[in-house]
Amino acid sequence: MIYDVMILGAGASGMMCAAQLNEMSDLKVLVVEGNEKAAKKLKISGGGKCNITNVNVSANNYLGDEQLIESVFSQFSKDDLLAWLAVRGLNPVIRKEQYYFCAKSSDEIISLLARASQKTDYVLNTKIISLSKSGDFELKTGRGYFKAKKVVVATGAKSFASLGASEIGLELAKHFGHTVKAFAPALAGLTLQTKEFWMKELSGISFPAEVHVGDKIMREDMLMTHRGLSGPVILSASLYWNSGEISMNFLPEIDLGKLMHNNRKLLSTALPLPKRFTQALLKEIGIIDRPCNTYREQELQLLGNALQHYSFAPA
Ligand SMILES: Cc1cc2nc3c(=O)[nH]c(=O)nc-3n(C[C@H](O)[C@H](O)[C@H](O)COP(=O)(O)OP(=O)(O)OC[C@H]3O[C@@H](n4cnc5c(N)ncnc54)[C@H](O)[C@@H]3O)c2cc1C
Repeated sequence: MIYDVMILGAGASGMMCAAQLNEMSDLKVLVVEGNEKAAKKLKISGGGKCNITNVNVSANNYLGDEQLIESVFSQFSKDDLLAWLAVRGLNPVIRKEQYYFCAKSSDEIISLLARASQKTDYVLNTKIISLSKSGDFELKTGRGYFKAKKVVVATGAKSFASLGASEIGLELAKHFGHTVKAFAPALAGLTLQTKEFWMKELSGISFPAEVHVGDKIMREDMLMTHRGLSGPVILSASLYWNSGEISMNFLPEIDLGKLMHNNRKLLSTALPLPKRFTQALLKEIGIIDRPCNTYREQELQLLGNALQHYSFAPA
């Protein structure tokens, strides 16, 4: 049998593509997937509840060709997605006034995609090996050959090899003469160089911070871990960081001068930061924890830099 469209990979993209084709056409669609189940990565996404989309979505939140991204959103925006899901019975809940998540489990969106693409033939447990074309496309797999007139490569990127992730998509694209860019890590924690190891001692501490990477500014929770820095703001920052320094503002909402002026409290008590963090930072920059109104101009400058313009190069 020759399919009209053969989709490689049953992840979020492959299943959405199959659903759209099924709903809008009578094309014969095949999805080929290496795992024994579809959407294994989608299942663990968002801590098992899948952060489907966000309240604010713009091209500015993405890396890559801004015009292309804007054109995608002008054709299918986050509101179109929410409406599409709602009509099919899924109404995500908003968390922290920012994120749309499945109310109970990412299984909700997986089963919706499976229902919406039920006219598709899913061939699971089938490793994709190579693709060739002479007239129709011919896919070589661990379980024989499949033919189709068109192919959609939706085999995802490299993270979580244990869930089936591979570089086959890049290999296939290269084979057909496309220019490809190697995958790079994104949305990952940042590890630290020796100079910043004092932060590792604070593993478990979390508070809102602002991170500047180039011209991008992100403000959300930061988490210190035994490996380095993590938490939503660091994951977002990692998308834009390749090398060089980033700058952190640990007190984004605070006018430090005003807070310190005529304040007789100990600095570590006066600052709206975890005490353990402030004490470790003070030790690091060689300033003693004293009542706020006892610091001299030079010390205030050093403090301001450390608390609101802390620059360092992640490892
Ligand atoms: C821990 C974690 C949490 C995440 N949380 C979120 C979140 O909350 N919200 C969000 O938007 N994104 C989240 N992401 C990112 C999101 O999961 C991915 O962006 C998304 O899954 C990409 O979809 P995809 O269809 O492109 O690729 P994938 O979902 O990776 O699907 C590709 C499919 O292709 C198959 N495949 C690959 N190579 C072969 C081969 N050679 N033969 C056969 N099959 C093959 C794979 O098995 C896989 O099923 C998270 C990612 C991780 C790792």
